[in-house]
Amino acid sequence: MVRPGDVVILHDPQTAGLAPALGAAGARVMWRSHIGVEEPNAESQAGWGFLERYLAGVDAYIFSREGYRPPGWDAARSAVIAPSIDPFTAKNEMLAPETTRALLQHVGIIAGRRRDDVHRFGGQDGSPRHVSRRAEVLRWGPAPAWEDPLVVQVSRWDPLKDDPVGVMRGFAAHLARGGTPADLVLAGPETHAVTDDPEAATTLAATIEEWRRLPGSVRSRIQLVSLPVTDVEENAAVINALQRHATVIVQKSLHEGFGLTVTEAMWKGRPVLASGVGGIRDQIVDGEHGLLLDDPTDPAEFAEKLGRLLAEPGLARRLGERARERVVERFLAPRHLREYAELLDRLAAAPGAPAGAAAAGVAPDGASGR
Ligand code: UDP
Repeated sequence: MVRPGDVVILHDPQTAGLAPALGAAGARVMWRSHIGVEEPNAESQAGWGFLERYLAGVDAYIFSREGYRPPGWDAARSAVIAPSIDPFTAKNEMLAPETTRALLQHVGIIAGRRRDDVHRFGGQDGSPRHVSRRAEVLRWGPAPAWEDPLVVQVSRWDPLKDDPVGVMRGFAAHLARGGTPADLVLAGPETHAVTDDPEAATTLAATIEEWRRLPGSVRSRIQLVSLPVTDVEENAAVINALQRHATVIVQKSLHEGFGLTVTEAMWKGRPVLASGVGGIRDQIVDGEHGLLLDDPTDPAEFAEKLGRLLAEPGLARRLGERARERVVERFLAPRHLREYAELLDRLAAAPGAPAGAAAAGVAPDGASGR
Protein backbone atom coordinates (compact mmCIF):
# COMPACT_ATOMS: atom_id res chain seq x y z
CA MET A 1 0.00 0.00 0.00
CA VAL A 2 2.97 2.34 0.38
CA ARG A 3 3.33 4.73 -2.53
CA PRO A 4 6.10 7.13 -3.57
CA GLY A 5 5.99 10.28 -1.48
CA ASP A 6 4.30 8.65 1.50
CA VAL A 7 5.91 9.19 4.86
CA VAL A 8 6.39 6.08 6.97
CA ILE A 9 7.27 6.24 10.64
CA LEU A 10 8.97 3.11 11.92
CA HIS A 11 9.15 2.47 15.64
CA ASP A 12 12.00 0.80 17.49
CA PRO A 13 14.62 -1.77 16.48
CA GLN A 14 12.14 -4.48 15.50
CA THR A 15 11.02 -2.52 12.43
CA ALA A 16 14.45 -1.36 11.26
CA GLY A 17 14.67 -4.08 8.62
CA LEU A 18 11.73 -2.54 6.76
CA ALA A 19 13.54 0.73 6.10
CA PRO A 20 15.44 -0.23 2.93
CA ALA A 21 12.36 -1.78 1.28
CA LEU A 22 10.19 1.22 2.14
CA GLY A 23 12.84 3.56 0.80
CA ALA A 24 12.99 1.51 -2.39
CA ALA A 25 9.21 1.87 -2.71
CA GLY A 26 9.67 5.64 -2.74
CA ALA A 27 8.56 6.42 0.80
CA ARG A 28 10.20 8.96 3.06
CA VAL A 29 11.18 7.02 6.16
CA MET A 30 11.48 8.26 9.72
CA TRP A 31 12.80 5.90 12.34
CA ARG A 32 11.61 6.56 15.88
CA SER A 33 13.73 5.14 18.66
CA HIS A 34 12.18 4.55 22.06
CA ILE A 35 15.41 3.37 23.60
CA GLY A 36 18.72 5.02 24.39
CA VAL A 37 21.67 5.07 26.74
CA GLU A 38 23.17 8.05 28.43
CA GLU A 39 26.72 6.66 28.46
CA PRO A 40 27.56 4.61 25.37
CA ASN A 41 29.28 1.30 26.10
CA ALA A 42 30.60 -1.59 24.02
CA GLU A 43 27.23 -3.35 23.98
CA SER A 44 25.23 -0.30 23.01
CA GLN A 45 27.74 0.44 20.27
CA ALA A 46 27.42 -3.12 18.96
CA GLY A 47 23.63 -2.73 18.99
CA TRP A 48 23.66 0.57 17.13
CA GLY A 49 26.17 -0.87 14.66
CA PHE A 50 23.78 -3.71 13.88
CA LEU A 51 20.85 -1.31 13.35
CA GLU A 52 22.88 1.11 11.30
CA ARG A 53 23.02 -1.43 8.46
CA TYR A 54 19.29 -0.95 7.97
CA LEU A 55 18.89 2.65 9.02
CA ALA A 56 21.80 4.41 7.38
CA GLY A 57 19.66 5.87 4.61
CA VAL A 58 16.47 6.91 6.39
CA ASP A 59 15.32 10.51 6.05
CA ALA A 60 15.06 11.23 9.76
CA TYR A 61 15.88 9.73 13.11
CA ILE A 62 13.75 10.59 16.12
CA PHE A 63 15.03 10.14 19.66
CA SER A 64 13.16 10.58 22.92
CA ARG A 65 15.75 12.84 24.44
CA GLU A 66 18.88 14.78 23.71
CA GLY A 67 21.87 12.57 24.28
CA TYR A 68 20.29 9.36 22.93
CA ARG A 69 21.55 9.90 19.37
CA PRO A 70 24.23 7.25 18.84
CA PRO A 71 27.72 8.67 18.48
CA GLY A 72 28.49 9.38 14.84
CA TRP A 73 24.87 9.34 13.58
CA ASP A 74 23.89 12.30 11.45
CA ALA A 75 22.78 15.17 13.69
CA ALA A 76 21.28 17.08 10.76
CA ARG A 77 18.79 14.27 10.13
CA SER A 78 17.95 13.79 13.82
CA ALA A 79 15.16 15.24 15.89
CA VAL A 80 14.31 14.97 19.57
CA ILE A 81 10.64 14.38 20.29
CA ALA A 82 9.49 13.21 23.70
CA PRO A 83 6.75 10.56 23.80
CA SER A 84 3.21 11.31 24.92
CA ILE A 85 0.27 9.42 26.32
CA ASP A 86 -3.30 9.20 25.08
CA PRO A 87 -5.78 10.26 27.76
CA PHE A 88 -8.68 8.58 25.97
CA THR A 89 -7.44 5.00 26.13
CA ALA A 90 -8.39 2.38 28.71
CA LYS A 91 -4.98 2.99 30.34
CA ASN A 92 -5.58 6.66 31.01
CA GLU A 93 -9.29 7.46 30.81
CA MET A 94 -11.11 8.83 33.85
CA LEU A 95 -12.42 6.18 36.21
CA ALA A 96 -14.93 6.87 38.93
CA PRO A 97 -13.64 5.79 42.36
CA GLU A 98 -16.31 3.07 42.59
CA THR A 99 -15.16 1.67 39.24
CA THR A 100 -11.53 1.73 40.36
CA ARG A 101 -12.49 -0.09 43.51
CA ALA A 102 -14.63 -2.66 41.72
CA LEU A 103 -11.87 -3.36 39.18
CA LEU A 104 -9.23 -3.91 41.86
CA GLN A 105 -11.55 -6.09 43.92
CA HIS A 106 -12.48 -8.12 40.89
CA VAL A 107 -8.92 -8.97 39.89
CA GLY A 108 -8.02 -9.71 43.52
CA ILE A 109 -5.65 -6.90 44.51
CA ILE A 110 -7.95 -5.20 47.04
CA ALA A 111 -10.08 -6.95 49.65
CA GLY A 112 -13.84 -6.89 49.27
CA ARG A 113 -16.81 -8.52 47.76
CA ARG A 114 -16.64 -8.95 44.01
CA ARG A 115 -19.42 -7.11 42.23
CA ASP A 116 -19.79 -8.33 38.71
CA ASP A 117 -21.84 -5.39 37.58
CA VAL A 118 -19.62 -2.32 37.92
CA HIS A 119 -16.09 -3.06 36.74
CA ARG A 120 -16.64 -1.45 33.37
CA PHE A 121 -14.39 0.73 31.26
CA GLY A 122 -14.55 2.35 27.82
CA GLY A 123 -13.23 0.30 24.90
CA GLN A 124 -11.14 1.83 22.11
CA ASP A 125 -14.14 1.69 19.77
CA GLY A 126 -16.31 3.49 22.31
CA SER A 127 -18.18 0.40 23.37
CA PRO A 128 -18.54 -0.41 27.07
CA ARG A 129 -16.17 -3.19 28.12
CA HIS A 130 -15.71 -5.00 31.38
CA VAL A 131 -12.84 -6.80 33.02
CA SER A 132 -13.55 -10.51 33.22
CA ARG A 133 -10.15 -12.03 33.99
CA ARG A 134 -8.46 -12.17 37.39
CA ALA A 135 -4.84 -11.50 38.23
CA GLU A 136 -2.35 -13.97 39.64
CA VAL A 137 -1.55 -12.46 43.02
CA LEU A 138 1.16 -13.75 45.32
CA ARG A 139 0.55 -12.58 48.85
CA TRP A 140 0.94 -13.82 52.39
CA GLY A 141 -2.14 -13.06 54.43
CA PRO A 142 -5.20 -10.99 53.64
CA ALA A 143 -5.44 -8.49 50.81
CA PRO A 144 -5.08 -4.79 51.68
CA ALA A 145 -8.30 -2.93 52.31
CA TRP A 146 -9.46 -0.08 50.06
CA GLU A 147 -8.53 2.41 52.79
CA ASP A 148 -4.96 1.10 53.31
CA PRO A 149 -2.17 3.25 51.84
CA LEU A 150 -0.79 1.51 48.77
CA VAL A 151 2.61 1.96 47.16
CA VAL A 152 2.67 0.73 43.55
CA GLN A 153 5.28 0.00 40.91
CA VAL A 154 4.03 -1.10 37.48
CA SER A 155 6.79 -2.57 35.30
CA ARG A 156 7.86 -5.41 33.15
CA TRP A 157 9.81 -7.98 35.19
CA ASP A 158 13.23 -6.68 34.27
CA PRO A 159 16.43 -6.10 36.27
CA LEU A 160 16.52 -2.56 34.86
CA LYS A 161 13.43 -1.85 36.97
CA ASP A 162 15.67 -2.58 39.96
CA ASP A 163 15.11 -6.27 39.74
CA PRO A 164 12.43 -5.53 41.25
CA VAL A 165 14.12 -7.03 44.32
CA GLY A 166 15.64 -3.61 45.02
CA VAL A 167 12.17 -2.10 45.30
CA MET A 168 11.27 -4.65 48.00
CA ARG A 169 14.50 -3.86 49.86
CA GLY A 170 13.78 -0.15 49.78
CA PHE A 171 10.25 -0.76 50.99
CA ALA A 172 11.55 -3.04 53.78
CA ALA A 173 13.88 -0.21 54.82
CA HIS A 174 10.88 2.12 54.99
CA LEU A 175 9.04 -0.28 57.32
CA ALA A 176 12.18 -0.87 59.38
CA ARG A 177 12.62 2.83 60.10
CA GLY A 178 9.07 2.97 61.44
CA GLY A 179 7.58 4.77 58.43
CA THR A 180 3.82 5.05 57.84
CA PRO A 181 2.42 1.53 57.47
CA ALA A 182 1.55 0.79 53.86
CA ASP A 183 1.36 -2.09 51.41
CA LEU A 184 3.46 -2.49 48.28
CA VAL A 185 2.15 -3.86 44.98
CA LEU A 186 4.62 -4.85 42.30
CA ALA A 187 2.60 -5.43 39.15
CA GLY A 188 3.73 -6.65 35.77
CA PRO A 189 2.56 -8.69 32.82
CA GLU A 190 2.18 -12.47 32.95
CA THR A 191 5.63 -13.67 32.03
CA HIS A 192 4.71 -16.30 29.44
CA ALA A 193 2.82 -13.69 27.44
CA VAL A 194 5.54 -11.20 26.54
CA THR A 195 7.44 -12.96 23.81
CA ASP A 196 10.01 -10.23 23.21
CA ASP A 197 11.03 -10.21 26.87
CA PRO A 198 12.48 -13.70 27.37
CA GLU A 199 14.20 -12.88 30.65
CA ALA A 200 10.99 -11.89 32.41
CA ALA A 201 10.25 -15.35 33.83
CA THR A 202 13.72 -15.63 35.39
CA THR A 203 13.44 -12.17 36.87
CA LEU A 204 10.02 -12.87 38.36
CA ALA A 205 11.24 -16.22 39.75
CA ALA A 206 14.19 -14.46 41.44
CA THR A 207 11.82 -11.83 42.84
CA ILE A 208 9.53 -14.52 44.28
CA GLU A 209 12.50 -16.33 45.83
CA GLU A 210 13.66 -13.11 47.50
CA TRP A 211 10.09 -12.36 48.59
CA ARG A 212 9.90 -15.77 50.34
CA ARG A 213 13.06 -14.93 52.26
CA LEU A 214 11.67 -11.68 53.66
CA PRO A 215 10.61 -11.64 57.30
CA GLY A 216 6.87 -12.27 57.65
CA SER A 217 6.18 -8.72 58.84
CA VAL A 218 7.53 -7.35 55.55
CA ARG A 219 6.36 -10.16 53.28
CA SER A 220 2.77 -9.78 54.46
CA ARG A 221 2.85 -6.20 53.14
CA ILE A 222 4.12 -6.98 49.65
CA GLN A 223 2.02 -8.41 46.81
CA LEU A 224 3.45 -9.62 43.53
CA VAL A 225 0.82 -9.31 40.82
CA SER A 226 0.97 -10.84 37.34
CA LEU A 227 -1.67 -9.30 35.09
CA PRO A 228 -3.14 -11.21 32.18
CA VAL A 229 -2.35 -9.62 28.83
CA THR A 230 -4.59 -11.77 26.62
CA ASP A 231 -6.84 -8.75 26.29
CA VAL A 232 -4.70 -5.62 26.07
CA GLU A 233 -7.56 -3.30 27.01
CA GLU A 234 -8.49 -5.30 30.08
CA ASN A 235 -4.86 -5.22 31.16
CA ALA A 236 -4.77 -1.46 30.58
CA ALA A 237 -7.95 -0.89 32.57
CA VAL A 238 -6.52 -2.70 35.59
CA ILE A 239 -3.28 -0.69 35.39
CA ASN A 240 -5.34 2.47 35.14
CA ALA A 241 -7.22 1.50 38.32
CA LEU A 242 -4.03 0.54 40.14
CA GLN A 243 -2.32 3.80 39.25
CA ARG A 244 -5.36 5.85 40.24
CA HIS A 245 -5.72 4.05 43.55
CA ALA A 246 -2.03 4.23 44.52
CA THR A 247 -1.17 6.50 47.43
CA VAL A 248 2.34 6.77 45.98
CA ILE A 249 3.67 5.48 42.65
CA VAL A 250 7.31 4.44 42.61
CA GLN A 251 9.53 3.80 39.61
CA LYS A 252 12.85 2.72 41.02
CA SER A 253 14.47 1.97 37.66
CA LEU A 254 18.22 1.72 37.29
CA HIS A 255 17.95 2.92 33.67
CA GLU A 256 14.97 4.26 31.79
CA GLY A 257 14.62 5.31 28.15
CA PHE A 258 11.65 7.53 28.90
CA GLY A 259 9.49 5.87 31.54
CA LEU A 260 5.88 5.88 30.35
CA THR A 261 4.67 4.52 33.68
CA VAL A 262 5.87 7.77 35.26
CA THR A 263 3.87 9.91 32.79
CA GLU A 264 0.83 7.69 33.32
CA ALA A 265 1.02 8.14 37.09
CA MET A 266 1.60 11.90 36.81
CA TRP A 267 -1.43 12.22 34.51
CA LYS A 268 -3.50 10.63 37.27
CA GLY A 269 -2.26 13.26 39.72
CA ARG A 270 -0.36 10.78 41.83
CA PRO A 271 2.77 11.67 43.79
CA VAL A 272 5.67 9.87 42.13
CA LEU A 273 8.97 8.76 43.63
CA ALA A 274 11.27 7.82 40.77
CA SER A 275 14.92 7.35 40.00
CA GLY A 276 16.64 10.42 38.58
CA VAL A 277 17.73 8.53 35.45
CA GLY A 278 17.15 8.84 31.71
CA GLY A 279 13.88 10.28 30.49
CA ILE A 280 12.44 10.45 34.00
CA ARG A 281 14.57 13.56 34.51
CA ASP A 282 12.80 15.24 31.58
CA GLN A 283 9.46 14.56 33.23
CA ILE A 284 10.03 15.38 36.88
CA VAL A 285 11.85 18.37 38.28
CA ASP A 286 12.76 17.12 41.74
CA GLY A 287 10.50 18.57 44.39
CA GLU A 288 8.17 20.18 41.84
CA HIS A 289 6.39 17.36 39.99
CA GLY A 290 7.48 14.46 42.18
CA LEU A 291 10.56 13.32 44.05
CA LEU A 292 13.69 11.94 42.42
CA LEU A 293 16.18 9.47 43.84
CA ASP A 294 19.79 10.63 43.49
CA ASP A 295 21.00 7.06 43.93
CA PRO A 296 18.45 4.47 42.76
CA THR A 297 20.46 1.68 44.40
CA ASP A 298 20.29 3.19 47.89
CA PRO A 299 17.45 1.68 49.98
CA ALA A 300 17.92 4.32 52.71
CA GLU A 301 17.26 7.24 50.36
CA PHE A 302 14.22 5.42 48.93
CA ALA A 303 12.89 4.75 52.45
CA GLU A 304 13.38 8.34 53.58
CA LYS A 305 11.63 9.87 50.54
CA LEU A 306 8.82 7.32 50.48
CA GLY A 307 8.32 8.01 54.19
CA ARG A 308 7.90 11.72 53.46
CA LEU A 309 5.33 11.17 50.74
CA LEU A 310 3.28 8.84 52.93
CA ALA A 311 3.50 11.02 56.04
CA GLU A 312 2.88 14.40 54.40
CA PRO A 313 -0.43 14.32 52.49
CA GLY A 314 -0.14 18.04 51.72
CA LEU A 315 3.19 17.52 49.97
CA ALA A 316 1.89 14.45 48.15
CA ARG A 317 -1.19 16.32 46.93
CA ARG A 318 0.81 19.34 45.77
CA LEU A 319 3.29 17.19 43.84
CA GLY A 320 0.44 15.21 42.27
CA GLU A 321 -1.33 18.36 41.10
CA ARG A 322 1.85 19.80 39.60
CA ALA A 323 2.58 16.42 37.98
CA ARG A 324 -0.73 16.44 36.17
CA GLU A 325 -0.17 20.01 34.94
CA ARG A 326 3.26 18.99 33.69
CA VAL A 327 1.74 16.18 31.61
CA VAL A 328 -0.92 18.50 30.20
CA GLU A 329 1.80 20.95 29.15
CA ARG A 330 4.33 18.50 27.75
CA PHE A 331 3.27 14.91 27.33
CA LEU A 332 -0.05 14.86 25.48
CA ALA A 333 -0.84 14.66 21.76
CA PRO A 334 -0.97 18.40 20.86
CA ARG A 335 2.71 18.95 21.63
CA HIS A 336 3.66 15.59 20.09
CA LEU A 337 1.75 16.18 16.84
CA ARG A 338 3.09 19.72 16.51
CA GLU A 339 6.64 18.42 16.70
CA TYR A 340 5.88 15.72 14.13
CA ALA A 341 4.40 18.39 11.86
CA GLU A 342 7.51 20.54 12.22
CA LEU A 343 9.67 17.58 11.30
CA LEU A 344 7.51 16.80 8.26
CA ASP A 345 7.87 20.42 7.19
CA ARG A 346 11.61 20.12 7.56
CA LEU A 347 11.61 16.95 5.46
CA ALA A 348 9.44 18.49 2.77
CA ALA A 349 11.73 21.49 2.58
CA ALA A 350 14.94 19.49 2.53
CA PRO A 351 16.69 20.14 -0.76
CA GLY A 352 17.27 17.14 -2.99
CA ALA A 353 16.03 14.48 -0.62
CA PRO A 354 14.75 12.14 -3.27
CA ALA A 355 12.12 9.56 -2.54
CA GLY A 356 13.95 6.30 -2.20
CA ALA A 357 16.87 7.79 -0.33
CA ALA A 358 16.19 5.41 2.49
CA ALA A 359 17.56 2.47 0.57
CA ALA A 360 20.40 4.26 -1.06
CA GLY A 361 22.69 4.38 1.90
CA VAL A 362 22.50 0.74 2.84
CA ALA A 363 25.39 -1.32 1.66
CA PRO A 364 25.10 -5.09 1.85
CA ASP A 365 28.14 -5.38 4.08
CA GLY A 366 26.53 -3.12 6.65
CA ALA A 367 28.76 -0.14 5.90
CA SER A 368 27.11 3.15 6.59
CA GLY A 369 26.12 5.42 3.77
CA ARG A 370 25.96 8.27 6.25
N1 UDP B 1 2.52 -2.06 31.11
C1 UDP B 1 1.36 -2.74 30.79
N2 UDP B 1 1.06 -3.89 31.45
C2 UDP B 1 1.86 -4.37 32.45
C3 UDP B 1 3.05 -3.67 32.79
C4 UDP B 1 3.36 -2.51 32.08
O1 UDP B 1 0.60 -2.30 29.90
O2 UDP B 1 1.53 -5.41 33.04
C5 UDP B 1 2.80 -0.82 30.36
C6 UDP B 1 2.92 0.42 31.23
O3 UDP B 1 1.65 0.90 31.63
C7 UDP B 1 3.66 1.34 30.26
C8 UDP B 1 4.53 0.37 29.48
O4 UDP B 1 4.00 -0.93 29.68
O5 UDP B 1 2.75 1.97 29.38
C9 UDP B 1 5.98 0.38 29.92
O6 UDP B 1 6.62 1.50 29.40
P1 UDP B 1 7.87 2.16 30.15
O7 UDP B 1 8.36 3.26 29.27
O8 UDP B 1 7.49 2.55 31.54
O9 UDP B 1 8.95 0.98 30.30
P2 UDP B 1 9.51 -0.13 29.25
O10 UDP B 1 8.71 -1.37 29.51
O11 UDP B 1 9.33 0.44 27.89
O12 UDP B 1 10.93 -0.31 29.68
